[in-house]
Amino acid sequence: MSFTHTLIARSLPIVPRPIVRRVSRRYIAGDTLDDAVRTVAALNGEGLMATLDVLGESVTERSLVDAAVREYAAAIDAIRTGRFDANISIKPTQFGLSLDFDLCLDRVRTLVTQARDAGNFVRIDMEDSRCTSATLDLYRRLRAEGFTNVGVVLQAYMRRSLADVRALPEGANVRLCKGIYIEPPAVAYQDRGVVNKNFVRLLEELFDRGFYVGIATHDEDLVFEAERLIERRRLPGAAYEFQMLLGVAEPLRRIVRGAGHRLRVYVPYGPQWYAYSLRRLKENPRIAGYILSSLLAGGAARRA
Ligand SMILES: Cc1cc2nc3c(=O)[nH]c(=O)nc-3n(C[C@H](O)[C@H](O)[C@H](O)COP(=O)(O)OP(=O)(O)OC[C@H]3O[C@@H](n4cnc5c(N)ncnc54)[C@H](O)[C@@H]3O)c2cc1C
Repeated sequence: MSFTHTLIARSLPIVPRPIVRRVSRRYIAGDTLDDAVRTVAALNGEGLMATLDVLGESVTERSLVDAAVREYAAAIDAIRTGRFDANISIKPTQFGLSLDFDLCLDRVRTLVTQARDAGNFVRIDMEDSRCTSATLDLYRRLRAEGFTNVGVVLQAYMRRSLADVRALPEGANVRLCKGIYIEPPAVAYQDRGVVNKNFVRLLEELFDRGFYVGIATHDEDLVFEAERLIERRRLPGAAYEFQMLLGVAEPLRRIVRGAGHRLRVYVPYGPQWYAYSLRRLKENPRIAGYILSSLLAGGAARRA
């Protein structure tokens, strides 16, 4: 992590809100479900799928858990009404994972049931390492109850992920990403090269087991490796999808789509954009570098 990145991340709380807003606009669809629906319609128009994320996490009050359930229920309805090619992604701590596991399971089950009835799918995002075991339990419980319209996420930086792949139920549906949280060396690989090697190793293991994989990365090396594995195994297009974040690596997104792969864009929205942006930036100052480049790129564009 460079000095500049650390400096930017540390000074974020004093950066005026409108500036954080301007910078994060590219990554966040807006405050409302209508904003998100417009973004999804535009993405679908470009032949891209979407997944909706209502911003919010680490909920400490039950009333907020229920509010999250209502917001996601509205999102599932909007997807069905608009016949969009989109699903939803949820964070277990937004559904009370750190308050009470059974409460979380109950509320997530409510959503997964609603999604199933609407022909839709729920991806359970993976948060920091304190949540990993409970999140995988949540997923296993729902699968054991017979739900097939639910998937989970594994992070390539986690040392335990290979064992986690091997313990997944048959027919699992997994998003594979590098991992965004700051984790200690005891639980996570720190070296980018090792994380990348583990990403490829996990991807092979997931494909070997016949699992559906969401390959979530903007790293060109990994996109290349994934394409190589897909080609070598002659995998049908229905066995996997690529996934990228809204506003990130759009040229690579076009290249991947142009090569005929299906690609889903992660679309965060909601009034909690400010807290979310600050938290993300403070959690991982590396992202501050992206902000810096986007500010510089914006400046260059204005000068051009
Ligand atoms: C669809 C999706 C879902 C995700 N879900 C989770 C999750 O549930 N849990 C979790 O821990 N992590 C999640 N992540 C985040 C992921 O773990 C990584 O932190 C993030 O995607 C960056 O890793 P990368 O593979 O793109 O590689 P990197 O090496 O970090 O990035 C490769 C290149 O992509 C560009 N880039 C990457 N991220 C950004 C950004 N934010 N802004 C601008 N440019 C960027 C940069 O040009 C960079 O050089 C998700 C990512 C995606 C794409």
